[in-house]
Amino acid sequence: MTTIRIAYLYEDLMNTYGDAGDVKIIRYLLAQEGYSSTVDNISLGDDFTAFDYDFLFFGGGQDFEQSVVARDIMRHKETLTAYIEAGRPMLCICGGYQFLGDYYQTSGGETIKCLGILPLHTIFNPEKRMIGDTHYQTEFGEVHAFENHSGQTFFDDPQKLQPFGKMITGYGNNPQDGVEGLQYKQTIGSYSHGPLLKNLNIAQELVKQILASTTADPS
Ligand code: GLN
Repeated sequence: MTTIRIAYLYEDLMNTYGDAGDVKIIRYLLAQEGYSSTVDNISLGDDFTAFDYDFLFFGGGQDFEQSVVARDIMRHKETLTAYIEAGRPMLCICGGYQFLGDYYQTSGGETIKCLGILPLHTIFNPEKRMIGDTHYQTEFGEVHAFENHSGQTFFDDPQKLQPFGKMITGYGNNPQDGVEGLQYKQTIGSYSHGPLLKNLNIAQELVKQILASTTADPS
């Protein structure tokens, strides 16, 4: 049986509002297709080579946990950049999504340096915390989820990045743009918790991508 290898980045620190459920759903759907799977928690100080995995997951976090992760994550910039640029599948939720960009300016006035892999940045929204149910349209169908973030994300090179969805209800990236998340090659960034992959249309698409790009040995 082929074993699909999943890495959960900072699982012990980045897992708000049930984001770990995304990984459980992926594993369940893989099992239904006849694939076993393993999950490695890549945490502070751990060695990590992105290409050892078939799928990377990075969940959401509170500002404090994000500042802890920021002190460790830069070591992995090169391997993560190569993996993303190679078009391998990755899903980043909320704080994990924010980490793909250049920086996140928090409500406490701290600027958390992020990976700087994709041209986007996130700044505290002093008007309101963006919280509530969301509903949006993606190229894989509609999504119903839940958002809770104070950071608003803006694309710095809209030619390069495509939004993941078009808002029907809720804020998504920020109150102005009417879009949710990002799609770049086979990386998805999203503010959706709930978890996002309870939307089986998205989960099934991800599983398709994982199986199409796996380098795991068939056995
Ligand atoms: N701490 C970040 C924010 O408030 C991310 C929140 C989250 O991951 N749920 O914007």
